[in-house]
Amino acid sequence: MTQDRLLEGKVALVTGAGRGIGRDYALAFAAAGAKVVVNDLGGTTRGEGADRIPALEVAKEIEDVGGAAVVNFDSVSDFDAAQSMVDQAMSEFGRLDVVINNAGILRDVIFHRMTEDDWDSVIAVHLKGSFNVSRAAATVFRQQESGAFIHMTSTSGLIGNFGQANYAAAKLGIAGLSKSIALDMTRFNVRSNCISPFAWSRMIGTIPIGDEAQRERVEKLKTMTTAKIAPVAVALCSDRSAVTGQIFGVRNNEIFLMGQSRPLRSVHRAEGWTPETVLDHAIPAMSADFYPLDRSADVFSWDPI
Ligand code: NAD
Repeated sequence: MTQDRLLEGKVALVTGAGRGIGRDYALAFAAAGAKVVVNDLGGTTRGEGADRIPALEVAKEIEDVGGAAVVNFDSVSDFDAAQSMVDQAMSEFGRLDVVINNAGILRDVIFHRMTEDDWDSVIAVHLKGSFNVSRAAATVFRQQESGAFIHMTSTSGLIGNFGQANYAAAKLGIAGLSKSIALDMTRFNVRSNCISPFAWSRMIGTIPIGDEAQRERVEKLKTMTTAKIAPVAVALCSDRSAVTGQIFGVRNNEIFLMGQSRPLRSVHRAEGWTPETVLDHAIPAMSADFYPLDRSADVFSWDPI
């Protein structure tokens, strides 16, 4: 299948592009004609250590098929380093059109055991990291009056999951960050959208296999390859798209437009509320519409298609 060169002449900065979904973003953006800054710190899933090999391999893969790529090994959690990623795009390629905030780590633990370090490190990479790179790029986007952001959110934040309070808070924060950027920068022709992916990567590859049912479930999850996420990102970042301020779920061959919070029901008393009337009137009136304590897997209750 030949791919349209939808991003010919554009320059994309992809964070966390050494592995998983980010690697496929880098390859797909290059295949669509973009020059790519391949950023990856190369740490473990928990964000420990550093390794230059993953980013170097992705850049080589792009160059081997005639594309253009440069590597960057810095952490998105460092504000100055994020600025230097944008500077590198400008000095190497002379422009920047796309930022994909994809770098991520996990520190999953049940909430009452979550340490300050578990919290800080996840917020630093996901939420602060997405701010850092976006803020550095915003100056360039504003000047050139164009640009597209993709931020990675998750149904862990949009819906819920066990043991991920740090990650869920960061990912729902990223949805707010994206919408705010969309609002503030639409006057400069800058778009900002979120992708909430489902893909088999090392990040979810740690699921323990206890019995036959779990083994079968994991085999199904493996069909959701990381390469299935990239076409949506390429489309959203092309000049053919005017979409901004949206959240798209992507799972294998399905694309979802995710909801954003709006009032669901209201109750009113002309004389105002007391705690008693809240208990006796407001809560019974609204309780039919309360959300159950769903996890992502309760809502996405069917196998990937
Ligand atoms: P992954 O672990 O395979 O890839 C993440 C990459 O980010 C790694 O190569 C890692 O070295 C890099 N990275 C980590 N910290 C960094 C830092 N501080 N600076 C630069 N690079 C850093 O994970 P993945 O599954 O491909 O996840 C990619 C993104 O998608 C993440 O934001 C993740 O939260 C999100 N996501 C993934 C899934 C899924 O199903 N895989 C679901 C929801 C959200």
